[in-house]
Amino acid sequence: MRIARFSIDGNVAFGAVEGDPSAPGSSEGLVLDIIKGVPFADFELSGTKVPLSKVRLLPPVLPNKVVAIGRNYAAHAAELGNEVPAAPWAFFKPSTSVIGPGDPIVYPTFSREVHHEAELAVVIGRLCREVPRERVKDVILGYTCANDVTARDTQQTEKQWARAKGFDSSCPLGPWIETGLDLAAASDLAVTATVNGELRQAGRTSQMINSIEDLIVNITEAMTLLPGDVLLTGTPAGVGPLHPGDEVAVTIEGIGTLTNKVISRG
Ligand code: MG
Repeated sequence: MRIARFSIDGNVAFGAVEGDPSAPGSSEGLVLDIIKGVPFADFELSGTKVPLSKVRLLPPVLPNKVVAIGRNYAAHAAELGNEVPAAPWAFFKPSTSVIGPGDPIVYPTFSREVHHEAELAVVIGRLCREVPRERVKDVILGYTCANDVTARDTQQTEKQWARAKGFDSSCPLGPWIETGLDLAAASDLAVTATVNGELRQAGRTSQMINSIEDLIVNITEAMTLLPGDVLLTGTPAGVGPLHPGDEVAVTIEGIGTLTNKVISRG
């Protein structure tokens, strides 16, 4: 099931996306069946349907925290001249960095070099800590696309990445949560980024150094994850600059495409 969060006539709801989003020109044909309640517990579909074209898609979750992993693809570490860390290298992106599909990425005033980073995002479905490897599948609600937008120059001059990777609008998520992928499927998906239609990044989640299981075991050793929390799993090679006016699209096989435009601060 594909679960979207959206607003219509000032109301916010979750809905199940019906139709085939991968069919060419199909987005007009997609329909949302409104979910009664929230998708973090047992829920029912209401049977009330609205066309996707009539709603505004929102970030598919509002996470309490986004935990992100640096240098989880060897080719990406190498392209920036970095070593691969011996253990997962986690950092936070604040909840205020999250935006939805179609929302603008606002170029920060303090940077002159903002990069895209296409990443598989794991959406946590239930409160969990100290998750054993064999239970990892039970704490995952589903998967979505993320862009770990980064002020690369700031990242290089500031030891903590709070500003470089935490500025407002630096965490586009969406377009929806795909709940139908098991761990094996999620662990071998094509991840691409295009800028103005030109291919910039192309990798597979099978190239991750630390697997989804490794990462959830490692993070929950240290902290509780809450329903709706999001894990960004690292970016493949090919990161590069974004400029105001650019349109950046992250596509993950079996999930969908997350598109955002870059604008300058007005
Ligand atoms: Mg990243």
